[in-house]
Amino acid sequence: MNGFFNRILVIDATHQTFSTEPVNETDLQLMLGGKGLGVSLLLQKNPAGVDPLSPENHLVITLGPTSDSLIYGSCRYCILSKSPLTGFLGHSYSGGHLAIPMSRTGYDAFVIHGASEKPVWIEISDTDIQFHDATGLWGKDTYQTEDAIKSILSDMNAGVMTIGPAGEKCVRFAVVENDYWRSAGRTGMGAIMGSKQIKAIAFHGIQQRPFADPEGIRAYSKQILSTFRDHKATDAYRNFGTPMMVAMLNTANAFPTRYWSSGKFENWPSISADAMADRLNVKPKSCKTCFIGCGKLSQVKAGRHTGLKLEGPEYETIYAFGGLCMIDSIEEIVHLNDLCDRLGMDTISAGNLAALAIEASLRNLISEKLEYGNARQIADLLQKISDRSGIGDILARGIKAASQYLGLADLAIHVKGLEPAGYDPRGLNGMALAYAVSDRGACHLRSTFYKAELAGLIPLDQVDGKAKLFVDFEDRCTLHDCLITCRFYRDFYTWDELSRIIELTTGLKLNRVELAERAAYVSNLARRFNIQEGMTPLDDTLPGRFFNEPLENGATIRTEDLYRMIQEYYLIRGWGKDGLDLNRTPILRDA
Ligand code: SF4
Repeated sequence: MNGFFNRILVIDATHQTFSTEPVNETDLQLMLGGKGLGVSLLLQKNPAGVDPLSPENHLVITLGPTSDSLIYGSCRYCILSKSPLTGFLGHSYSGGHLAIPMSRTGYDAFVIHGASEKPVWIEISDTDIQFHDATGLWGKDTYQTEDAIKSILSDMNAGVMTIGPAGEKCVRFAVVENDYWRSAGRTGMGAIMGSKQIKAIAFHGIQQRPFADPEGIRAYSKQILSTFRDHKATDAYRNFGTPMMVAMLNTANAFPTRYWSSGKFENWPSISADAMADRLNVKPKSCKTCFIGCGKLSQVKAGRHTGLKLEGPEYETIYAFGGLCMIDSIEEIVHLNDLCDRLGMDTISAGNLAALAIEASLRNLISEKLEYGNARQIADLLQKISDRSGIGDILARGIKAASQYLGLADLAIHVKGLEPAGYDPRGLNGMALAYAVSDRGACHLRSTFYKAELAGLIPLDQVDGKAKLFVDFEDRCTLHDCLITCRFYRDFYTWDELSRIIELTTGLKLNRVELAERAAYVSNLARRFNIQEGMTPLDDTLPGRFFNEPLENGATIRTEDLYRMIQEYYLIRGWGKDGLDLNRTPILRDA
C-alpha cells in the first residue's frame, strides 16, 4: 500500500542481530500506521504479563503514511512499549526533525527486544545496522550524547534519539529525547531503552516513502498553508506558544496548584506567556514541516541563570513546577526544565513527584526538609531522582509506588499510575472523563478535550451527551496518532481533511464513518492490550480527592456524573456495560 515501505526492522539487542519482516497490507489498511501499527506489533510480539524492564518486553518505534511528506505537522514518530510506570500500554510521540531520517532508512517500524550486555548505541541506515560501544557515553547527558553521535555521523544527515542518566538508571518516567529539546515524554520509554542498555539510536538513509499522489500532496499543502498561515490559532501558537494556557487555566480556576489543592496560583502572572516575553529572549521555533511554530527558543536575560537557553518551557512544565510546586520565577522554571531535559526525565511526572515529596516533608514522613516555592531544593531533588539516591530512589519508582511507600496513596493524584496534565478536572468535567478512560493513564493528549470545554463547544457542567462529543475528539486524535500528525493541526485537519490526507498519501478513499471505524479499531487494540496486562474497568476512575476535595470555588466532580459519562462512553465504543466486551461492532456516529 502507498504511504508505507511495507517492512519492519526487528532487532535482537541481546545477540546484536537483526531481520526484516513484511507488514500485512490488510492490517495497514485498518490501522494506518503509527499508534495502530505499534499496538498491533506489541500485541503480536510481547508475552502477556511481561516485566516492562525485562529483555522480553519489546520497544516499538513507528512512523505513519505522512512521514517524510510535505503534509504540515507530519514530522513526528511514535514510541511504544509496556510502560514501566503504569504496567499498561505506554506510548509517546515526539516532533523536531528526527522522523525524516528515521523514515529514510526505509522501514515503517523498528522493533527491539532483548538486552545488550554492555551499553551500545545502534546505527540504523538503509544499507546496514551497526551496534557501537556506548561505554564512553554512559553517564553523559542527552545533549552531550546527541552531539557526540552526530559528530561521528557528520556526513550522514543523521537524526538521533537518546536517553539521559535517568533512563540508564531506569527511572520509571525517563524520556527519549531528540533534537535536544523534543521529548517522547510520558510513560517511561527512556527506562525501556535503559533496561536494554541502549544509550541512543541514530537513523540515516536516502529511501523515499512512496506516496499515492505526490503532486497532490504538494498542491494540498500549499492550499493548507495559504488558508491557515494567518489564522488566529496559528498566530496565538506562534506568538505565545502553549504558555498562553497559564492565563486561561488560572481564569478558569483549573490551574493545578500546591499539589492539586487549588485551581489558581496567585503569582501566575510571573510564570505566564507575558512573563516569558518580558524576562526571556524568545524566538519562535518549529519542527520540520510546520508553519505554526509553537516552539519557543528561550534564553534567560538576567539573574543566576543568565544565558541559559532551551526550547520551552511548555505549558505542562510551567504547571508542574510553577503551579504544583509554586515556583513563581520563569527563569527558575527554565532551569528545572533544562535539568529534566539533560537528565532525560518527564517534566510533568517530575513536577508531580517533587510536589508529593514536599507534602511528605511537611508531614515529617521523610528526613529531607522541602518547602513550596524553593527551586534550589527541587533542582537538588531532580538530581537525586536521576541518581536514584536517598529519597530520589523512592520517587524514581513513579507516583503510584512512591506514594504507597510514603503512606500517601490517598493524597497522590494519578490514573493508572500516570499523573494528569495541567487541567484540573474539577473545573472541566469532560477532562474527568478523558483522564479516567485514556489508555495510557491521566493523559490530556489522547483527546485534547480541554479544547472543547475551554472554547465553549459544550457546557462545562453538561453530563449527558458529553461522551458523544468526547469520542469525536478522541477518534480524530487517534487518527492523528496513526498518520502521525501534530495535535496542534487538529482544528485545521477536520474529518474531511484527514480523509483527503489519507487518500493523497495511501490512495485509500475513506469516508467519515470508515475513518471512525478505524479509530475505533485502534482504540479496541489499545484496550485489548491493557486488559491483557490486567487492567479492569475499576481502573477507569479518578483519584478520590477529585470527588471529595472541592476547589476554592466549590468545583468538584460528582461520582455519579463521572460514571454516567463513562457508561455512555462504553456504550458508544461498543464495550458493553462493564467496559470489557471488545467483540461488538462499535456504534458509529452519523456520516
Ligand atoms: S505546532 Fe509545534 S509541536 Fe506541532 S509541528 Fe509545529 S512546532 Fe512542532
